[in-house]
Amino acid sequence: MTKQKVTIFWFRRDLRLEDNTGLFHALQSDFPVVPLFIFDDDILEHLPKNDARVTFIYDSLEKINSELNKLDSSILIKKGKTKDVWESLIEEFDIQSVFFNKDYEPFAIKRDNAISSLLKENNIESFSFKDHVIFEEKEITKADGLPYTVYTPYKNKWLEKYHLSGSAPEYDSAPFQSNFAKDKFKFPDLAEIGFERSSIKVQPHNLTQIAHYKETRDFPALDSTSYLSPHLRFGTVSIRKLVNWANRKNQTFLSELIWREFFIQILFSFPNCVNHNFKSAYDGIQWRNNEEDFKRWCSGTTGYPMVDAGMRQLNETGYMHNRVRMVVASFLCKHLLINWQWGEAYFAEKLLDFELASNAGNWQWAAGTGCDAAPYFRVFNPEIQQKKFDEKGEYIRKWIPEFDFGYAEPMVDHAFARDRAIATYKKGILK
Ligand code: FAD
Repeated sequence: MTKQKVTIFWFRRDLRLEDNTGLFHALQSDFPVVPLFIFDDDILEHLPKNDARVTFIYDSLEKINSELNKLDSSILIKKGKTKDVWESLIEEFDIQSVFFNKDYEPFAIKRDNAISSLLKENNIESFSFKDHVIFEEKEITKADGLPYTVYTPYKNKWLEKYHLSGSAPEYDSAPFQSNFAKDKFKFPDLAEIGFERSSIKVQPHNLTQIAHYKETRDFPALDSTSYLSPHLRFGTVSIRKLVNWANRKNQTFLSELIWREFFIQILFSFPNCVNHNFKSAYDGIQWRNNEEDFKRWCSGTTGYPMVDAGMRQLNETGYMHNRVRMVVASFLCKHLLINWQWGEAYFAEKLLDFELASNAGNWQWAAGTGCDAAPYFRVFNPEIQQKKFDEKGEYIRKWIPEFDFGYAEPMVDHAFARDRAIATYKKGILK
């Protein structure tokens, strides 16, 4: 039997049909486009069976599939080790070309290089596109061509470049959608992928609640942030549409989206920052790394209500408000003197929006070891943070129902912990 000549579009962290750069280009190729997603065993084997992110990915794919069904097409879902899957796809189809959007994480770069080589060995061309960011790796650099390691000049250059081009281009594939292959692939059950549905749900994003973002974003009880982070992580919204919208409506919000790109380019240029201090001068810090203390932090039982509410929000919902993330991270690194990498790993396991670049970048910021980080002698006082940002205790009561019935004593005195942190950092920072 002759094999079907096709173009393959490989979905990864861009789970949408709308304004998807690689898909837009794939649909203009000369062959019917088979949309593909691979559940990668190398990643899945490290996840719990009810991982909430897998449920979100599954639901997002199901949505894509039902949109494709309306076009008489469907998505091809595969599960296995990525290379093995591609080897079998090469057997199954007469693949003419493969299109995908770039992913800048070290694991993904290695994977994509291996797959591109495999395709090349089989005389198949592959094309990759910028889609996850407005400006990628080497587009925003200092005058000497080196990457920025300080946010404000990076942001200024980013804005200058963005305004020069007017806006970010949006890619409308609608005129080319007849080029989707007309195959009806079976959409698997979650159980066939080896997973169960999680009770934790990704919140829908909401841009109406950021009307007063600048004034309200730091107050966790107000629910006045966008909840876009998991959607940006998995690409269920387009960063170009979002940035163009933010540029028209809200510059403070736009600045946050630029933080995201700042950390993505840091990770690209300094991949070691995932498991090493960005500033090696901080390598001499003698972390206490006490396992019992770590458990109390994880379970939200430190006796500091702001820290505990945050950790319980994370454990129950897979989300934590940004202000509270800063407080719990500072508490772990400074009050408890636990290496930021422990906290980063715990967040990576729990956060629905876990994004390596933003997580490592923000953790290093909190620990003081990162580029453009908080100074080491700045130790957040969790009680003052609570008074400033949750004065009436609404956020705290939401996550700690027992709060009004005699709350636990703090596990460590603030003044003592602050002095200990500053002394330990001072001693450990290499001159
Ligand atoms: P909004 O306030 O509505 O912001 C809109 C978008 O801007 C966010 O979705 C995000 O894409 C971006 N953004 C906002 N703040 C930051 C920031 N500080 N750094 C980078 N991007 C930002 N964000 C993640 O997406 N993934 C992570 O793994 C992650 N880990 C973090 C760890 C720590 C210790 C801290 C302090 C922050 C971390 N953040 C992370 C950043 C931030 O807390 C979340 O992006 C934000 O809380 C998500 O909620 P939102 O979408 O409602 O945010």
